[in-house]
Amino acid sequence: MNSEPSIKHRMTRQKRVILDVLKGTDTHPTADWVYEKVKKKIPNISLGTVYRNLNILKSQGEILELNFGKGFSRFDGNVSYHYHFTCEHCGRIRDVESPMFEHLNEEVGRNIGHKVSRHRLEFYGECTDCATQ
Ligand code: ZN
Ligand code: MN
Repeated sequence: MNSEPSIKHRMTRQKRVILDVLKGTDTHPTADWVYEKVKKKIPNISLGTVYRNLNILKSQGEILELNFGKGFSRFDGNVSYHYHFTCEHCGRIRDVESPMFEHLNEEVGRNIGHKVSRHRLEFYGECTDCATQ
């Protein structure tokens, strides 16, 4: 019997640990941040492996990749429909949820006379931490 875990099993564990890290934070971290956290549980994991698993998790709909046109992506373990507010000073990203947006597609669709099926909406400004400095 071979006591080495199979590649498939190891992938599954890596994926689960990465997913746990992302579900356990609402900070929308970078891949590097995820890598540092995951390394505490799987010391020999590489950054490339973390990237690969993030892509797999993304394609499986388990996580979201947020890209606001900056040089790097941020990741989100919350896949429910929601928006984001980005602080333009510190780069912090927080979730925005409001019933205001529930019927946005229908409302805009009525206004323009076309069927709206999806939209993109991002909020930017100054977070309270930066505003009080
Ligand atoms: Zn800020
Ligand atoms: Mn989010």
